[in-house]
Amino acid sequence: MKKPYDAVISAFFVLTLIISFGNMMPVHAYADTLPDPRDLSGRVIFLDPGHDDETDNIFGDYSEQTTMLIFAEKIKPRLEELGATVYLMRDSDKRKQSEVRCAFINKCALEAVKEARLHDDEAADVGEIDRLISIMQSIIGDPELAEIYMNTPYDPKRTIHPDQARILELENDDEILSRFLFISLHSDASSNFGENGARAFYISTEDKVVQTYYDNVPYSSYSEISNDFADMILDHIAGTGFDNQGSFAENYFMIREHNIPGVLVENGYHTNSADRAKLQSDDFLEILADAYADAVVEYFSVIPLPARFTEPVVIEAEEEEQENDTDAPDTSDKYEIKRVILYSAR
Ligand SMILES: [Zn+2]
Repeated sequence: MKKPYDAVISAFFVLTLIISFGNMMPVHAYADTLPDPRDLSGRVIFLDPGHDDETDNIFGDYSEQTTMLIFAEKIKPRLEELGATVYLMRDSDKRKQSEVRCAFINKCALEAVKEARLHDDEAADVGEIDRLISIMQSIIGDPELAEIYMNTPYDPKRTIHPDQARILELENDDEILSRFLFISLHSDASSNFGENGARAFYISTEDKVVQTYYDNVPYSSYSEISNDFADMILDHIAGTGFDNQGSFAENYFMIREHNIPGVLVENGYHTNSADRAKLQSDDFLEILADAYADAVVEYFSVIPLPARFTEPVVIEAEEEEQENDTDAPDTSDKYEIKRVILYSAR
């Protein structure tokens, strides 16, 4: 005859088997269904509405900086609703200098690389990463320091500062490829009012000036994928009625002084009456914002997140256990056991 105690032991062993086996299974085996392709959790998007009240492009009653801010504020909640973390790089007609915005992007990227290394028990580089984070932090506090580390004021003969080079090297990492995306939002202008449609720019690897600047650092790791995203977003923009005028390699500060995938998009010509009428329509900007969200979803849908984002079991068990500490239902014992086993298995 079994003692009640034996039943508990048996249950414990069954649970151990289930959990141990589960722990050895590849990550995708946890999922009952395929992951939601529209789920952007873990993804980090920097939205940079172009210009401010001092650098605005005005054409008649059109203001580029005002329109791009309104537009960015329509994209942001769409991406957040899908689970993304979105940094809007200005939320008024004032903005931080480009050096500060790039320092902020680099700081966020380095923090993510650090987090990934700590998770993978690769603590060796963390001291160096901390030092580089503090340099970026100091530029955020005192933008004039950027002249030491970044190519500003722009000098085509300059080569990259070793610390900035190291930052770009560290950002050449799956953590950044799989999670980070930068989008700068503009509208175009031309003295030829017939010119219309959207263009997108990504960092060049061919440009001799850029090659000189980076000085053989394995730079712009994401030029190719940024080009892909540029084409992808232009396709979606074309779906709203703007002509697709193509993607181009460029050397703009906001896609040069960080090494995360990114594009600068010219959303039509505000000097063209048909394009301008679209940009001045709130309904059209809603449709364009949907197109942006769709493009971002499509872009990330083929890029898996780092494994730690798809290992929910340990974290869920731990959180559940803490929350239910006192009003323990039957499951609390199981959570307790589960937690012990999971930790010992790590
Ligand atoms: Zn612009």
